[in-house]
Amino acid sequence: MNPKPFKSPIYVAKPFLPPIEEFQEGLKEIWNNAWLTNNGPVVQRYREALCRHFDTDNLCLFNNGTLALQIALQGMQISGEVITTPFTFVATTHALFWNKCRPVFVDIEPHHYTLDPAQVEAAITPWTSAILAVHVYGHPCQYDALAAIARKHNLRLIYDAAHAFDVQVGGVPIGKFGDLSMFSFHSTKLYHSIEGGMLVFADAGLLKTFDYLKNFGFENEEEVVMPGTNAKMNEFQALMGLQVLRHLPHLIERRRAIAECYRDQLADVPGVYFPARLPRNVTYNYAYFPVEIEESEFGLSRDELYAKLKEFNVHTRRYFYPLLCDLACYRSVPLSFPIPVARRVARRILTLPIFDSLAIDDVERICDILKALCPALVRRSQSSRASGSERINLGKPVVNGIYVAD
Ligand SMILES: *Cc1c(COP(=O)(O)O)cnc(C)c1O
Repeated sequence: MNPKPFKSPIYVAKPFLPPIEEFQEGLKEIWNNAWLTNNGPVVQRYREALCRHFDTDNLCLFNNGTLALQIALQGMQISGEVITTPFTFVATTHALFWNKCRPVFVDIEPHHYTLDPAQVEAAITPWTSAILAVHVYGHPCQYDALAAIARKHNLRLIYDAAHAFDVQVGGVPIGKFGDLSMFSFHSTKLYHSIEGGMLVFADAGLLKTFDYLKNFGFENEEEVVMPGTNAKMNEFQALMGLQVLRHLPHLIERRRAIAECYRDQLADVPGVYFPARLPRNVTYNYAYFPVEIEESEFGLSRDELYAKLKEFNVHTRRYFYPLLCDLACYRSVPLSFPIPVARRVARRILTLPIFDSLAIDDVERICDILKALCPALVRRSQSSRASGSERINLGKPVVNGIYVAD
C-alpha cells in the first residue's frame, strides 16, 4: 500500500459557502436598504432566527466571539481570579487579560478534555469570582459538577462554547447551561457568519448592558451611559449567518459520516486513541476530529506524524498545543497545581481534517496515508507476510485504563 500525496492541500477545516445565487439575492436587499451596520434589518432578522433556534430571548450578537467574551466578562463585572483551562484557543484567556482578571489554570479530565471539576474546587481562593470553562471540540463540560461548585462558592459559571454551536444535552441547547455561553461564528468553525459571535445568558437584565457595551455605550445621540467599545455585527455577516443556518443540519450530517469513517478506518491502528464516546443524551455537532498519538505504540511522535502528513498535503492541526500556560505571554502565571493530563494531551493531540465538502474517499485516503506512515503497523504486516499468517490481530492496549478504544 503506497498512497500518493494529495494534489491540492487538504486543510483541517474549510468553510461552507451557500450557493452564490442565494447570497446575491440577499445582497440585493442590503443594497436596497443601504443600511450596512448598526443593528440593521438583516441583523435583527438574524437575531430573531437565533432566538427561535435556541428558544431564548437572552441572546446578543457581536462581530466576533473574542469581543463577545470580553464584553460578557465586563458586563458581568468579573474580577480577581478566574479558574480556567490551559487547553483551549488563546482567546479564552486573552478575554480575561483584557478584563484585568487573573487566569488560574487547572487540569482537564482525560476523556473529553474539559475542566476537571475536582481540580476547579481545589483552586478556589477568596479572590475567585468565576469559572470560565470550555466545551472544547464541542464536548460538553461536566456541567452538573461545575454548577454545584459555582453554587456552593457563589461563583459565576461562564462557558466558552465557541466550538459547541448546536450541541444539545437531553434536548436542551448547550447555551442554556451556566450563567452565560459565548459562541464563535468564525469561518473556521463548523457554523459561521464569516466572522461573528453570540452570547446566550440566563439573566435577561444583561441584554441591555451588552447592547450598550458593543455600541460605545450609546443610549441616544446625546447620552453615553458607559464606556463601551465597538463590537457590532454587520449586515453581511448576518446574511451569511442566516443562510448557513439553513444548511446546518446537512453540514452536521456530513461531518458525522466523516467522523464515523475515521473511527472505522483508524480503530485498529496501534497508538491512535479517540476521545471517549459522548454520553447518549448528547447531540454532538462533530466540530472537530481529535485523536491522540502514543509514540511508543504508533512508532512516530505526534509531531513527526504531523510533519509527514504535511508531505502528503494533509494539513492537520495540533489544537491545542502549546498549552496556554506555556505561551510567552502567560508563562509567568503560576500554576497552583500540576496539570499532568493537559500536558499529556497537548503532547499527543492531533486534529484531523473534517468539513462538509470532504469526500469519504478522501477521508479513506487520509487514513491510508496515516496507516502507511505508522511504523508499528508496517512492521506487523511485514512480519505476518513473512510468517505467512492470513489474519492480523491488531489488539489495542489501553493506556492507564482510561482510553476507550471503540
Ligand atoms: C475561535 C475561538 C474563540 C474566538 O472566536 P473568534 O470568533 O474567532 O473571535 C474563542 N474561544 C475558542 C475556544 C475558540 O476556538
